[in-house]
Amino acid sequence: MEIKKLSRINLGFFPTPITELKRLSDYFGGPRVYIKRDDLTGLALGGNKTRKLEFLIADALNNNHDSIITGGAEQSNHCRQTAAAAAICGLECHLVLGGGEPVEATGNYLIDKLLGAKIHWTGEFRKGEKIPEIVEKLRLQGKNPYIIPYGGSNPVGVYGFIEAMNELKQQLITMKIHFEHIIFASSSGGTHSGIILGNEIYNIGSNIIGIDIDKAEDEGPYIDRLINLLNSSSNFCGYNKIFSKDDIVLRKEYLGEGYGIVGDLERNAIHLLASKEGILIDPVYTGRAFGGLLDMIGKKEFLRNEKILFWHSGGIPALFTEKKIFN
Ligand SMILES: *Cc1c(COP(=O)(O)O)cnc(C)c1O
Repeated sequence: MEIKKLSRINLGFFPTPITELKRLSDYFGGPRVYIKRDDLTGLALGGNKTRKLEFLIADALNNNHDSIITGGAEQSNHCRQTAAAAAICGLECHLVLGGGEPVEATGNYLIDKLLGAKIHWTGEFRKGEKIPEIVEKLRLQGKNPYIIPYGGSNPVGVYGFIEAMNELKQQLITMKIHFEHIIFASSSGGTHSGIILGNEIYNIGSNIIGIDIDKAEDEGPYIDRLINLLNSSSNFCGYNKIFSKDDIVLRKEYLGEGYGIVGDLERNAIHLLASKEGILIDPVYTGRAFGGLLDMIGKKEFLRNEKILFWHSGGIPALFTEKKIFN
């Protein structure tokens, strides 16, 4: 299947490695769990947003924008990687962050400042809701900002994850391996949409399982936004299939106390992966998603001889802001 070609700039180190979690898999006595290390994309401490930004920033440059604007939570990994991408390309970066200026800059926010991003604080709004207002002000100042939505999740960003599956396909061929299941954190939908599309477009044939991360649904149910993004991206890339709810697996039982609130699920997952494999996962996304995977393994949802790929989407800087790692 041929899809539309988009221009791309190089912001990370690809392909990201895949390794087996041998000690952990032995500990559970199967299934075999592997990990894809998008925490190692290399863009100012890495993460899954690098993939989206390679296409988004290329689009900004092709259309002669002089600045980038995006939004997220104070500890947004997406905003940190966007600030790094903008610095690399000599573009001014405006970040619209939820909350108010903290007394101490830590984690992702510390890095945003280091990268020279200009910060706009927006209180209760942590999903870029105020971007249009700030864009108006920037235009009055004569600037021409390129708008990247919350999480980089629009069809151009999703394209980055369709291409991630193309990258995976080549690795599967080289490694002579097939994964029955691919599991990852799902939050603004770009990763999930791209993985579903790429799984079909590149004939990978895995079960795609997203772990829902964010309980807040002020803009309506996440599943509805996910289907809209999936279908607009399917149309945009030229695949043109129309998906329904039945095509999406979104596990909602690991939302805990809400976005960014660490509980036993996340804490145990972070400790187990660190102590058994020397791999760090984050308190907000990958800790929750890996905790979900451990729960599913415990409940015998997978066959002993199946192979599972956990997609590590990054997020490590937030570890340094988390007070509840040790109870
Ligand atoms: C953004 C992010 C996700 C979720 O990806 P979406 O494309 O927004 O669904 C998962 N993990 C980490 C570490 C992230 O920063």
